[in-house]
Amino acid sequence: MSDGQNLVGKHAVVTGGGRGIGAVIADSLNEAGAQVTIMGRNMDVLRDKAQQLNDGLAIQCDVTDEDSVTTAFAAATKQHGPVDILVNNAGAARSLPFIKTDRAHLQQMLDVNLIGPYLCIQAVLQEMIDKKSGRIINIASTAALKGYSYVTAYGAAKHGVLGLTRSLALEMATRGVTVNAVCPGFTDTDIARDAISNIVAKTGRTEDEAIRELVVHNPQKRLIQPDEVAATVLWLCGDKSVSITGQAIAVAGGEVM
Ligand code: NDP
Repeated sequence: MSDGQNLVGKHAVVTGGGRGIGAVIADSLNEAGAQVTIMGRNMDVLRDKAQQLNDGLAIQCDVTDEDSVTTAFAAATKQHGPVDILVNNAGAARSLPFIKTDRAHLQQMLDVNLIGPYLCIQAVLQEMIDKKSGRIINIASTAALKGYSYVTAYGAAKHGVLGLTRSLALEMATRGVTVNAVCPGFTDTDIARDAISNIVAKTGRTEDEAIRELVVHNPQKRLIQPDEVAATVLWLCGDKSVSITGQAIAVAGGEVM
């Protein structure tokens, strides 16, 4: 799925690249010729995925932990050189009514979904500025563009990612670095599967009914497939996307417009 892009000679890091959307992004960047480093907490999952890539590198990293991020990016750079493409994909979504959203839950959602991308960008930006070239792509969500019930903490974190994206894009506008957010609607991965199980457990609905409830927001009435998100990321990495910066690109069947 290289879509005609040529990323030979580029080093791409995909956080959360061991499974879900991140694993498919890693595949597509690799197919386009990039050397891909995948990061996450579960080394077994990462190693399995890296073996499927051409010259793939798996590095353990908890994006919520500054020391872990510093060590992981130093190791990635040592192996494959400075990072040309950073895809901040690692994230987690947990739903709770606001009344039960304590500070610990809010902090957890902010740490993984907002502070994680911030730390990873800090780890690569100076080298991108020095090279006058770079692509930063934050996998946000339609929850960065609109509200949904029962995910105030996740929604706040993802809205924060968009603020970070837009402001940094302006700061980098004359420095050869583009910064964008890709905003998927409900996508067919563990996150959506967990949401479906949650609906089934809490409401007694069947799995089909739960899926229908999730896709009710999507005018096309379907779950987004991870390769649709990956194709958007790949497009943003190309030379011809240099004017696309500070954008929040929804991959969501028309859910937001
Ligand atoms: P999955 O749950 O399938 O995968 C999440 C990935 O993030 C895993 O690789 C996981 O690896 C990694 N991760 C989680 N926490 C950390 C951490 N602290 N440090 C490092 N890595 C971490 O999620 P999806 O593929 O569905 O989601 C990917 C991104 O897309 C997320 O940012 C999510 O918010 C966003 N998104 C998803 C949607 C969906 O419906 N699926 C819709 C909109 C946006 P490990 O556990 O090994 O650390």
